Amino acid sequence: SGRVEFRDVRFAYDPERPILKGVSFEVPAGKTVAIVGPSGAGKSTISRLLFRFYDVQSGNILIDGQEIGAVTQDSLRAAIGMVPQDTVLFNDTIAYNIRYGRVDAAPEEVRQAADLAQIGAFIQRLPDGYDTTVGERGLKLSGGEKQRVAIARTILKAPPILILDEATSALDSHTEREIQSALDLVSKGRTTIVIAHRLSTIVSADEIIVLKDGQIAERGRHAALLAER
Ligand code: ADP
Ligand code: ADP
Repeated sequence: SGRVEFRDVRFAYDPERPILKGVSFEVPAGKTVAIVGPSGAGKSTISRLLFRFYDVQSGNILIDGQEIGAVTQDSLRAAIGMVPQDTVLFNDTIAYNIRYGRVDAAPEEVRQAADLAQIGAFIQRLPDGYDTTVGERGLKLSGGEKQRVAIARTILKAPPILILDEATSALDSHTEREIQSALDLVSKGRTTIVIAHRLSTIVSADEIIVLKDGQIAERGRHAALLAER
């Protein structure tokens, strides 16, 4: 389960300025679609519409064939996980931040998710570095480490659908490779929509959608898109 479908979706924040002018695509269950396009093209808007932060003007958004308008906010949030570009953390332990999406999780589960995301060593720290076990201040979490917290949270939540908003330039190339492997781990077998900036994602995606002026300008697999040029 977890098939996502956009059918001729039209949307504008301001009626004078349409952002999506009839966008249709499908992400089969367990597959990955990468969305690329210039800044302002409407990529993040697609993720906000899937969460139903806004309603579409016309067209349909469906999950497993069901209109998202007919799904409760709670079940939408349970079905969709998000690893945003910039993770905002609560001023509480990393363990608390990881279990936020699933408060019923046992401490061992939180620990496992943290280990998989490679932040197992930090879980008793606060985002500012304060270590609650030894009562001392350590290093503040870096941007990459904050992203790992979001990844650990998503591993624990295990949603059928995942939205990844890849950061453009915040990470150095070593961190980027490490984050990429953690992201590969969490997206494996899940329906994934990536707002893609990394070449590795684009190469491995099942489909790439190029969004331009509110419409899909091109679509296909990486090799096919390159062959057209
Ligand atoms: P992308 O993710 O491709 O960079 P966005 O989906 O964030 O693009 O934004 C698409 C367009 O919609 C941009 O021109 C942006 O300025 C505009 N926009 C985004 N959010 C809002 C909003 N809440 N109200 C009005 N305009 C918005
Ligand atoms: P942007 O790319 O401009 O940061 P997004 O479209 O990625 O915006 O997300 C919109 C906002 O919703 C972000 O602040 C994001 O952290 C937040 N968000 C993501 N997932 C959820 C969720 N499950 N419930 C509530 N808010 C969420």
